[in-house]
Amino acid sequence: QPAMPSTPTTPVRRRCRQIHVADVPVGGGAPVSVQSMTTTPTAHVDATLQQIAELTAAGCEIVRVAVPSQDDADALPAIAAKSKIPVIADIHFQPRYVFAALDAGCAAVRVNPGNIKAFDDKVKEIAKAAAAARVPIRIGVNAGSLDRRLLAKYGKATPEALAESALWECSLFEEHGFTDLKISVKHHDPMTMVAAYRHLAAACDYPLHLGVTEAGPPPQGTIKSATAFAILLAEGIGDTIRVSLTAPPVEEVKTGLQILQSLGLRARQLEIVSCPSCGRAQVDVYALTERVTAALDGFPYPLRVAVMGCVVNGPGEAREADLGVASGNGKGQIFVKGEVVKTVPESKIVDALVEEAMRLGEQLAPA
Ligand code: SF4
Repeated sequence: QPAMPSTPTTPVRRRCRQIHVADVPVGGGAPVSVQSMTTTPTAHVDATLQQIAELTAAGCEIVRVAVPSQDDADALPAIAAKSKIPVIADIHFQPRYVFAALDAGCAAVRVNPGNIKAFDDKVKEIAKAAAAARVPIRIGVNAGSLDRRLLAKYGKATPEALAESALWECSLFEEHGFTDLKISVKHHDPMTMVAAYRHLAAACDYPLHLGVTEAGPPPQGTIKSATAFAILLAEGIGDTIRVSLTAPPVEEVKTGLQILQSLGLRARQLEIVSCPSCGRAQVDVYALTERVTAALDGFPYPLRVAVMGCVVNGPGEAREADLGVASGNGKGQIFVKGEVVKTVPESKIVDALVEEAMRLGEQLAPA
C-alpha cells in the first residue's frame, strides 16, 4: 500500500496587520512572541530591572509593568532605558500616566479608552501622542472590566460581550485615525476565552494577544493556558501570548515557550522525552529523569534526549530522539539516533549522557 501523503503539522496563521512593539513585530506573520509581567512594584527600579533581566534570560521577548501610581510612572524612563526587551506600560484610568509612558520611551501602552472616555478629549490626545511616538496600544478587555452597557446587554461576560467590548474600545481610537492596536479578551474559563478570540479573529484584522486571566497556580494555570492557547494557535489565531500563573513570572515564560515549541511554532530547545514508567521498568525513571534534566539544564542545543525505563522497548520507543538511555539490570544502554553506542553502570548514566550530548551539540547549530 502506498504511503499516505504527509499532512502539514505547523498551523497556518491567521492573516492580520502587523504592529511593532519596539523591535518585536507582532502579527502579520511574525513569530508568536512570548511576554510576561513583572511582579515587583514598578517604582522599585532596581528590583524591577532585575526581574526583567531574569525574564529576558528565560526567553521573554516583551515585558509589561503595572503603572498604578505617579511613583511608578516616574520610574518608567529608567526602566525603559535599561531593559533589554521592550517594555509595555499597563495603565488603567489615568491618562496622564499614558503620556508619561510615551515620554519615557515605553515600547507600547496597555490602556482601555473606555475607561478614560470620561476625560473629555483625552482619547483623541492619546491617539495623537501615540501616533507621533509610533507606539502601539493594547486594548485589554477582561471579564472583570467589561463595559457596563455590555454587561447589561448580555447579562454576563459572554464571548460575544468580550469581543464586542474590545471592538467598541478599538472604535474609540479608530475615530481618531489610530489603528496601531492589538487586542486581548481574557477570561478565566478557557473555552469562553477561546470562543471570544474566535469572534474577534473573524471580526477584525488586529493582532491578538492571548491570555487566560486568573488561570491560577501551576499545574492548573499551566493546563488552562496550554489548552486554550493550543486550540487557538492550532487554528492560526494568536500573535503574542502571556501565560498568567500564580507563580514567579519566569515560569510563565518557560511555559509559554514550551507551548509554542509543542505546536511547532518555535524551534525546539532541549527536550527530555521520558517514558511514563510501567511494570517493566528496571530503574527509578522519575529520579533518573530528574537527574538528567538537572544535568542538561540550560544546554544550548536543540537536542531530544530520551530516558527510558527498560531495554526491551527503550531504544525502539525513542527512535526519534537524538540521544537516550534505556536502563536494565543495573546498567544503562546509551543510544544515539536509536543505535546503542555503549553500556555503562547505572551510576554513570548521567555522566555518559552529558558526554554524548556535548559531542552531539558540537555538530548542531545553537538553538
Ligand atoms: Fe515501560 Fe519500558 Fe516503556 Fe518505560 S520504556 S514505559 S519501562 S516499557
